[in-house]
Amino acid sequence: MSANLTPRAKFATTLLRTAAALSRATGRGDGSVIGGRVGLIVEPRLLELLAEGRHVVLISGTNGKTTTTRFTTAAIEAIGKVATNSFGANMPTGHTTALAKAPKAEYAALECDEHYLGQLLDAASPKVVALLNLSRDQLDRAMEVTALAAKWRQTLQASAAQTTVVANADDPLIVWAASVCQRVVWVAAGQSWTADSAICPNCGSHLDRFGEFWRCTNCGLNRPSPQWSVAQQGEAVVGPDGRRYELNLQLPGRVNRANAATALAIASLFGVDPAQAAPRLSEVASVAGRYAKVEREGRHLRLLLAKNPAGWLESFDMIDPNPPVVLSLNAREVDGFDTSWIYDVDFTSLAGRKVVVTGDRRTDLAVRLEVDGVDFLVVDDIRAAIAAVPPGPVEVVANYTAFQDIRAEFNRVN
Ligand SMILES: [Zn+2]
Repeated sequence: MSANLTPRAKFATTLLRTAAALSRATGRGDGSVIGGRVGLIVEPRLLELLAEGRHVVLISGTNGKTTTTRFTTAAIEAIGKVATNSFGANMPTGHTTALAKAPKAEYAALECDEHYLGQLLDAASPKVVALLNLSRDQLDRAMEVTALAAKWRQTLQASAAQTTVVANADDPLIVWAASVCQRVVWVAAGQSWTADSAICPNCGSHLDRFGEFWRCTNCGLNRPSPQWSVAQQGEAVVGPDGRRYELNLQLPGRVNRANAATALAIASLFGVDPAQAAPRLSEVASVAGRYAKVEREGRHLRLLLAKNPAGWLESFDMIDPNPPVVLSLNAREVDGFDTSWIYDVDFTSLAGRKVVVTGDRRTDLAVRLEVDGVDFLVVDDIRAAIAAVPPGPVEVVANYTAFQDIRAEFNRVN
């Protein structure tokens, strides 16, 4: 750990903390990115030096990485201090800051942007790498997702033999990428979005699916038997020996139970007893503002972030069946300017309930709902949306900047 840092690395760490603190003081976010940037300019090997001697897990994938990292941190904290990039600064600058801020932490749980996984594997020499899923993000196309899986496969093949991979057996792209590794723990983490994996990533042939099972009709790539899974009945995770670990999560949906299964699988590789870890996951109430509950004028809003097609489908699975739903869509730079992806999402599950539509691109969303035969009301902003629904619970689903706008309205900083 940082006790052995060189004088230059110590100096870089001090500058990093100062820059991050200044950035926070001037109201520019939590300062992770700028702090890390300053530290890495002074000592380009800072991330590597700060990671040295710690037990590191990297968590990557298109969806669920922030929540899974949060769950994993809660689980490993049962046995020691954990450094983590809890505000989603998931590139090397953010990782450097997370490690610099927790010099005494023996463990590190780092959420990693999909495109930086190779770099992090080199720099952080992780004990465990968790691969959740790959689907098209707002800025990607399906072909790019396959290219990313190929890049992961190449990187993992070259990775150190002591790294264990925890991988989603339900996602063919993940299975293909992870199957080159010597040690893999498979988790049945589900796949709500199958459109990007109808074709075998290994040979391009058609994939056959029978219930949960899938297999390539040509090369035989198929779903490995999972050691960890979400229980079919009740809210629990089933471990490798068939033992049940009851969950009592505050975070909704099957997707989050799957994230919990992955976190327990990771934690057990660090020597944490899953029976001890599982109750700790129920203490997680919101993750960087996601799933947060806010109240105004008797309306109790639950805020769900959905950045991409898979995320929208997952959020429809998470919401309670009765309350009104507010959907908010923007198309600013980080969201991607093109909203045509909403035609890849099936909105029919919302039919029959009260749906209110807002955001910069509310008209795009309205047209989409019209096509799916879902009744809706269009309003100017979240305030008008609140006024349009009766007091009681309300589910709010928004994409990235729309979500930030809504959080700002409620003065939420995290
Ligand atoms: Zn194949």
